[in-house]
Amino acid sequence: MDCLFCAIINGDIPSKKVYEDEYCYAFLDINPQAPVHCLVVPKAHISSADDITKENSTAVANIFVAIPKIAAELGLKNGYRIVSNIGEDGCQSVKHLHFHILGGTKLTENMA
Ligand code: AMP
Ligand code: ZN
Repeated sequence: MDCLFCAIINGDIPSKKVYEDEYCYAFLDINPQAPVHCLVVPKAHISSADDITKENSTAVANIFVAIPKIAAELGLKNGYRIVSNIGEDGCQSVKHLHFHILGGTKLTENMA
């Protein structure tokens, strides 16, 4: 399968790793949209949050357990935002589920 984030997880494409465990991999976004911009992805390929099922949800649950550790690692003591874009209308450009962690400044209230 031709998937950019699978290639990053496999080490075929370099990335700036922030965190890794059995289920997930976190790395800095190549085009940061905030002072801190990190992506967290499940190691198993899931196309988007719209494809989360009971069967693959363990990996997703694990990501949400990992996120506070990742945020601490990134020094996000004063809060942050988690975003996941889905499909065409959600402007998802990489079709491998990922959660953006954005922070390091006071973010705008505008989410759309
Ligand atoms: P989305 O638009 O929600 O699908 O987010 C995809 C994100 O992946 C964007 O924020 C891109 O900047 C980021 N991205 C694309 N290629 C890479 C890469 N090679 N390394 C790190 N981040 C990337
Ligand atoms: Zn993938």
